[in-house]
Amino acid sequence: MLNITVCARFRPLNSKERRNHNDSVCIRRTDSESFILKDEKEDDFTFSFDRVFYEESKQADVYKFLALPIVRDAVNAINGTIITYGQTGAGKTYSMEGPGILECDEQKKGLLSRAVYGLFDSIKSSDEAIKHTIKLSMVEIYMEKVRDLFDLSKDNIQIKESKLQGIILPRVTEITVLDPAEALQSLSSGIANRAVGETQMNMASSRSHCVYIFTIHQELHKDRRVKSGKLILVDLAGSEKVEKTGAEGRVLEEAKTINKSLSALGNVVNAVTCGLQGKLNHIPYRDSKLTRILQDALGGNSRTALLCCCSPSTSNVSESLSTLRFGARAK
Ligand code: ADP
Ligand code: MG
Repeated sequence: MLNITVCARFRPLNSKERRNHNDSVCIRRTDSESFILKDEKEDDFTFSFDRVFYEESKQADVYKFLALPIVRDAVNAINGTIITYGQTGAGKTYSMEGPGILECDEQKKGLLSRAVYGLFDSIKSSDEAIKHTIKLSMVEIYMEKVRDLFDLSKDNIQIKESKLQGIILPRVTEITVLDPAEALQSLSSGIANRAVGETQMNMASSRSHCVYIFTIHQELHKDRRVKSGKLILVDLAGSEKVEKTGAEGRVLEEAKTINKSLSALGNVVNAVTCGLQGKLNHIPYRDSKLTRILQDALGGNSRTALLCCCSPSTSNVSESLSTLRFGARAK
């Protein structure tokens, strides 16, 4: 059965929420694993997760609890996935990238740069008889099309399955990174390209999924046997519902596509955690590009962590409720 860690994270109230007098914090803390959320009608909803990170939580603690075990395993050829979920503005990108991917303040660094250092550290402390190579790809999924963030001319990457390698993106750019600094530079260029693409297409980054794929190859010096593990981090598109009445045209199409892929993700996670593993045909990986890319990192004996990011504000309570329900269902 899939081993999934589900956590919730509340960002601090932002300045707009603090200025608004009708706005307050909608959660009552119970402990580090559960809390009560009060909705507009003053109804109480109790939630429990593997860990709850409240507004004063540190980036390092989120990393240690949620990501470090997965990062270590990826170096030992166990696939892993780390996903941030939530409405736009809830803290997905802050958790993933920090204020910026090249952020120097040690405290503010996000999961991505910590994972980069974690990968290289784990390699350093592992068996010297094994030669490790780390390759990095970055893609964006927008309207069910997969775009290479290291080469924007590749704007329709296909997803294939190979017997030996599992899920592959045949034409995608893979950068071999030799040290953390190089990996961070590559990530930074991919993130910059994402912004260029968005301007070209007049699209907001919150409407696409951003997928970071680290492939860690191991080669045994003596007999050149190879093994590999994948570590995939996903900064999902905003999960907010679009007003049914107001939205039309492309905004509505975007919303429908995002909704479809997020429900596909929920269905896949649900199927694997319910033990449908043996009956592979029953797991709807093919329902979206997102779940297809994640197929071999969301099944088998892979490890997955889901961070449900929420605003703590009463003005966002219905979106938070829906994010937390998504997380609760994944358990
Ligand atoms: P999302 O990616 O979910 O749309 P962001 O990560 O961009 O949301 O966060 C929205 C804003 O809130 C950003 O300005 C970000 O810096 C801030 N923010 C989010 N989470 C935190 C946090 N844990 N601590 C401090 N600021 C945060
Ligand atoms: Mg974001």
